[in-house]
Amino acid sequence: MRSNHFVRPAFVIILLVIASRVEAQRCGVVMDEPAAKRIADIVRSYRNIKTYSTEPTAEIKIPVVFHIILNSSLQASFNSARINTQLAILNEDFQRMNADSAQTFALYKRIASGLKVKFVMASVDPTGNPTDAIMRWAVNQDFRIVADTAVYRSMSWPSDRYLNIWVIASSDKDYLGYSTFPGETGDQGVTINYRYFWPGMGQFQKGRTLTHEVGHFMGLFHIWGDKDDCSGTDHIDDTPPQAGPDYTPPPVRPLSCDPTRFRMWENYMDYTDDAYMNMFTVGQVNAMTAILHTVRTGLINNAATILPPELETIQQVQVYCEAHAIVVEVPTLYSNRSVVVYSLMGQVLYQGEGSTRIDLTGHASGIYLVVAGDIRRKVFVP
Ligand SMILES: [Zn+2]
Repeated sequence: MRSNHFVRPAFVIILLVIASRVEAQRCGVVMDEPAAKRIADIVRSYRNIKTYSTEPTAEIKIPVVFHIILNSSLQASFNSARINTQLAILNEDFQRMNADSAQTFALYKRIASGLKVKFVMASVDPTGNPTDAIMRWAVNQDFRIVADTAVYRSMSWPSDRYLNIWVIASSDKDYLGYSTFPGETGDQGVTINYRYFWPGMGQFQKGRTLTHEVGHFMGLFHIWGDKDDCSGTDHIDDTPPQAGPDYTPPPVRPLSCDPTRFRMWENYMDYTDDAYMNMFTVGQVNAMTAILHTVRTGLINNAATILPPELETIQQVQVYCEAHAIVVEVPTLYSNRSVVVYSLMGQVLYQGEGSTRIDLTGHASGIYLVVAGDIRRKVFVP
């Protein structure tokens, strides 16, 4: 019995280590051969017709919509500031503007690269109305990240025009996130278990689960090619062949399957802890460029990123009640816009231009009509 006393804690520790390693598996995306061949063919044929140096350097905007599919108490912790921070991290990583790019292994700095894209919150929704691109679906469900895709992907915007990002609750310890590959049918996008959305839990606290999954969405595979011996490939020339993924890097960097190259654990498409990943390679950026300009071309600078001027004005004119007054805020750009306030009987109570505060003391409580240029708003004054 005494020996058991010592054995049991050790057994528990081993179980804990195994559990944390399983959780370290980043995503449910596994390379299947048809997908790998299809994507590799697209990249190769694109390379034959284009040289990447001739790519337009103008900024490419990709509209994003976040579907927050969580119960109401979890929804509260996903405010727009948190979502925008996660989006900013995605952009920094993809553009190689990340502060820790300086940490890239010296030998790999020269092949590290960034993609000329900017992921932006969509400003126009599928029906043509202004949007903040945060869809809140109050759903109290624990999803299986891979098996339940049909359920949560039904909450999508058209995936030829928007990058859908589904944030779901899942106690599925196997996966942090998931993604569709280019060329798949049905709703396209990226799934994140809410626990690994910035700021994230455990060793995933830099918001890089989204970077990794969007890498898959743009056609990248895991750098070890999903094989634990040296037989796998990610079809990218400048990533070293690796037998299996990296997690927390060891003190001394091992060689890869190619004895002339070290392992590249800082690659976003490895399984490394967030603190140690910081790069895509030139080859990966070229592959993503090819996918973007072929399979995902509908996402580039489409109408969802451009708010028509009249919608922009509507969005920016604020009309609200303050005590017994109506406040109208018109952007400086439209400061010569006429503002008229009517009673519901049609009587003109105020006529002027630009931002104003109209005191209605002496007038009855009720609904008043504010017309600012071509914008009409009703406001209740108590
Ligand atoms: Zn993955």
